[in-house]
Amino acid sequence: MEKIPDKTSDSPFTMSQIVTLFQKMMEESAKQNQEMMRAIVSEIRKPPLDPIKEIQKAREKETKEKSLADYWERKANKKRNCAHSRQDGTCVVAWAVQSDGILRGYCPNCDSTITPEDGDLYQQQRLRPRGLMESVRVVA
Ligand SMILES: [Zn+2]
Repeated sequence: MEKIPDKTSDSPFTMSQIVTLFQKMMEESAKQNQEMMRAIVSEIRKPPLDPIKEIQKAREKETKEKSLADYWERKANKKRNCAHSRQDGTCVVAWAVQSDGILRGYCPNCDSTITPEDGDLYQQQRLRPRGLMESVRVVA
């Protein structure tokens, strides 16, 4: 490479080298600025600053809660409408004293647990004759 001496300065670089270097620096800096801007923009775009996403999220949550409430509602209905009986009319509820010392029953027909909180239902079911197949879990 031919070197053009620059008598006005004692810089080891020629003017064109300096210009090239300067341009390179500017490009580099522009690139860095761009990257920084991109990072800032993506940071700004992140939720919770996105109201549409927030609304969607809230709606999803509502739907989830509603379907869960529906599930429990259906389950409660099933329990209410269930006779907790086998076809021969005997009680199908499997009773067990649990680790807290409380007797609870499980009805496989309505997939429900019968606990003291059920009040009358608990008392009634507890006093029913339990049939002869107590030890056998029959799953229909
Ligand atoms: Zn039942």
